[in-house]
Amino acid sequence: MRTPMIAGNWKLNKTCGEAVELINALKPAVADVTGVEIVVAPVFTALAAVSEAIAGSNILLAGQNCYPEANGAFTGEVSPALLKDVGCSYVIIGHSERRQLLKESDEFINRKIKAATAAGMGAILCIGETLEEREADQMFDILRRQVRLGLKKLAADAMGAVVIAYEPVWAIGTGKTATDEQAQEAHAFIRALVKETYTEEIADATRILYGGSVKPANVDQLMAQPDVDGALVGGASLQAEDFAGIVDFRKP
Ligand code: PEP
Repeated sequence: MRTPMIAGNWKLNKTCGEAVELINALKPAVADVTGVEIVVAPVFTALAAVSEAIAGSNILLAGQNCYPEANGAFTGEVSPALLKDVGCSYVIIGHSERRQLLKESDEFINRKIKAATAAGMGAILCIGETLEEREADQMFDILRRQVRLGLKKLAADAMGAVVIAYEPVWAIGTGKTATDEQAQEAHAFIRALVKETYTEEIADATRILYGGSVKPANVDQLMAQPDVDGALVGGASLQAEDFAGIVDFRKP
């Protein structure tokens, strides 16, 4: 049985004060939700303040990125151990904005996945095709490459710490959501890839989140798909009411 995860990626938004304000509004709104792992990923500068603000609540903390080295001459970077030190349980790795804007390669992402899991952190591996790739019928090839290279030589016992987020790039921040069938098709394919790479047991236990314009109005249909185990939410995670509505997807 996979515990659903709803994770909010706040991207480059919110000062420390605004981040704490959002958490203080979110906490009571989700306090009664059980059986769902609730995660927020603020900017690095707000992690410590948010970590303090979520203490004792049912909300977990994530970093939006990490560097695959523990320490050293890597100006501007943050290691998985430092994220853990500030209270993070997870780190988002390979988000399409970083793949596109910062030219992050699958190899670099693979190093980060290994470093994060080795440091005892959960890693949320983001994958997904662009519109051009989908229209050129390359979606399955892209997903296969991103899963295989992203998880390359990752030990089977590290897979318990890995969550995969399928985020079609054309659905991120665009208001366009993949249909329930499109999401299920991609998720089933990803689960089959995990099975091929590891075992059926690992594939069955791996959570696969959907990301791309998820809102309270579309979350329940997406979550009804057998291979959709949660959501990675951008825009709608910046409003407590909207994010709480997504977290509480079981509510009629
Ligand atoms: C994201 O950035 O991971 C995302 C899914 O954004 P949005 O929900 O705004 O499409």
